Amino acid sequence: MSTIKDKLQAIRSRIAQAEIAAGRGAGSVALLAVSKTFPAAAVEEAAACGQRSFGENYIQEGVDKIIALRGLRVAGEPLEWHCIGPIQSNKTRPVAEHFDWVHTVDRLKIAERLSEQRPAHLPPLQVCIQLNVDDAATKSGVALAQLDELARAVQALPRLQLRGLMCIPDPASEAKLLSNFIATKQAFTRTVSQFDPKTSARPALDTLSMGMSADLELAVATGSTMVRVGSAIFGSRSARV
Ligand SMILES: *Cc1c(COP(=O)(O)O)cnc(C)c1O
Repeated sequence: MSTIKDKLQAIRSRIAQAEIAAGRGAGSVALLAVSKTFPAAAVEEAAACGQRSFGENYIQEGVDKIIALRGLRVAGEPLEWHCIGPIQSNKTRPVAEHFDWVHTVDRLKIAERLSEQRPAHLPPLQVCIQLNVDDAATKSGVALAQLDELARAVQALPRLQLRGLMCIPDPASEAKLLSNFIATKQAFTRTVSQFDPKTSARPALDTLSMGMSADLELAVATGSTMVRVGSAIFGSRSARV
């Protein structure tokens, strides 16, 4: 069986190949390692290979790992933790208190609570708005028609920093996936043109979080700047997928 180190290497070269194939600059796509359901020891192993950013879906599980690995450094920097799971409004506090990024903001109430609960001694919480380009009633994510309103609101909240968009498309078919990625990229371009702060004093709206283990090449080809990869690094998940 290949190790986390081998699998991380393989993913880095898949990303590098995809950047070349898409005519994009080397290093233009960041790798978020999705460690949900895997123990802190697996995160430590990836960190020892230079991986610094990790994604978690389940808030309590994520907080436990964040606390357990507090002293860990990669190239002198602490780990960077991204919440990529759904957030109920009664679960915003641990997210605001422990994570660095949230990719799944999809309504105003969640955004307001995260801003209110973000501790003063921490930098603003970095936020991607989750977009639902399908408008499927069962899925999370804001509808395209409400995106601008939510982006404006997030940008006005004092303890949040709007960084971009995120999507979890329906993998029903390759054609569907492609059209979802393209629609999300178009929404991202529009959001950047409207909401990018255009000042060096604040971080740019620079993040399009899309693509996972199975579809990262397609996501990079359509403009992703951050792929969220779990099973291809840590192995298949037995439960709670
Ligand atoms: C689990 C998960 C991933 C990683 O999926 P893999 O197929 O294991 O790479 C990415 N994004 C989100 C939102 C997830 O829940």
